[in-house]
Amino acid sequence: MCEAAGDGGGCGADMGPARRRRGEGQSHPRTCMKCGKGSAALIIRVGDPFCRNCFHEYFVHKFRAMLGKNRIIFPGEKVLLAVSGGPASSAMLRQVQEGLSRETAKKLRFIPGVVYVDEGAVRGQSPAQREQSLACMETLLQATGFPYYLVHLEQALELPASILRPGPVTPSEPSVSYKEAVEGFIQQQRQKGYGDKDSGTSPPGPGSGESPEGPPAAPRLPAAALTQELLKVFEAVQTLTAKEELLQMLRIHLILQTARTKGYTKVMTGETCTCVAIKLLTNLALGRGAFLAVDTGFKDDRHGDVMVVRPLREYTAKEIAFYNHFFNVPTVIAPPLPTKRRDKPSIRHVVEHFLMGLQKDFPSTISTVYRTGEKLSADLAKPSCESERCLLCLCALDLDGEEELALEPTLIIDEPEMERNGCCQDPLAAGAEHKSAYIPLLCYGCRLTFKELGPVTTLPPYVRAEAQRRIRSAEMQQQNQEVPPEDKELGKS
Ligand SMILES: [Zn+2]
Ligand SMILES: [Zn+2]
Repeated sequence: MCEAAGDGGGCGADMGPARRRRGEGQSHPRTCMKCGKGSAALIIRVGDPFCRNCFHEYFVHKFRAMLGKNRIIFPGEKVLLAVSGGPASSAMLRQVQEGLSRETAKKLRFIPGVVYVDEGAVRGQSPAQREQSLACMETLLQATGFPYYLVHLEQALELPASILRPGPVTPSEPSVSYKEAVEGFIQQQRQKGYGDKDSGTSPPGPGSGESPEGPPAAPRLPAAALTQELLKVFEAVQTLTAKEELLQMLRIHLILQTARTKGYTKVMTGETCTCVAIKLLTNLALGRGAFLAVDTGFKDDRHGDVMVVRPLREYTAKEIAFYNHFFNVPTVIAPPLPTKRRDKPSIRHVVEHFLMGLQKDFPSTISTVYRTGEKLSADLAKPSCESERCLLCLCALDLDGEEELALEPTLIIDEPEMERNGCCQDPLAAGAEHKSAYIPLLCYGCRLTFKELGPVTTLPPYVRAEAQRRIRSAEMQQQNQEVPPEDKELGKS
């Protein structure tokens, strides 16, 4: 989803395939290293010239190999592809389309759906521009034949608080191994007589509730009042870095909600190796060092019932750009987040600029950073109960009491709404609306971001609702522990 973070193409899209190809073709007429016959159309790494056909094979194989190696997506499982219209997720969509139409042995066996989050409101698009890119996107998605869901960022304001709680894990195939599941599925398909046709994998009927039949109807935008409300949330944010983090959070929560309500158990996102490298360094700078593995690894299971997977994380932005160029993969590029003159560039932007600059002179920069991330383990950050889980990112709280005290003074924020509300009326409610009351619920990285978000009143309603619930439940737990001595044993675990 890296391309969704703005920057007009992001992630090393600086290499224009057309320009590079012509240059390389003229100065080094070479043959393909794989088949030895075709003339090289591109050079992936130094000394690896590929012809078009072999590059296609290589690209497709890499995708299947990534899924095969990890053995996480079971046959017949519903997988939601998060597509932003950017180069990487569009290439991912094409891969899945191709994978489903292959011969039985090499066929992908999951059931895909697509979700697109329209972020036009915060990307400075006019209603007319938004409707245009939505219509464009809808035409692309409809052409895939997959069920698809168009979601507006405004809908994040209506998310339920439960999105901040992990769902119950229900392993779809508890006792069956991956191999058995695959064999069983193939047999089942043969018995049904589906053979190579993909009628078994793409359920009939329309995907989007917005256009039941026929050509796409003009996509409707959310009510203007809701757009205004969303803009207020973003305008209250003090830095571009925090704005990007907030956008990413709302986006993933909307995708997660779509997956939950439509019965998808996996979500695929389109982060490339270039994106992963940028995210690794950015998150380090954001104080999220403890969660690098879950934030950037192949699988992200913090949400419990819905797992996020990143199948493109071994592709470079360059490979994606060439693939899209050679095989005419359409993309719809969203404009970057609008900036004001006094805004400092975001940390992500600075890191990207730094890495891409290094990459020009040292071509192994991205892969070196990427491979460093591979050595991290996700198990370190597993929270065991709710009170140990960050309210916003759902990772394990990484602070003990002492660090908390040390951090506290920097996080005291002006609380004008505190006085307006009158904190003596209902200590619980008033406490819950106090910005510093949120601090113990957050991990170190989210505290830094949270500090730069606006006052509590401009936070998305679902965040406030869940925070209040957690503050109340913590207080009730404390009261329970204080009163009856015989219950103490039960309360402790
Ligand atoms: Zn070849
Ligand atoms: Zn957090």
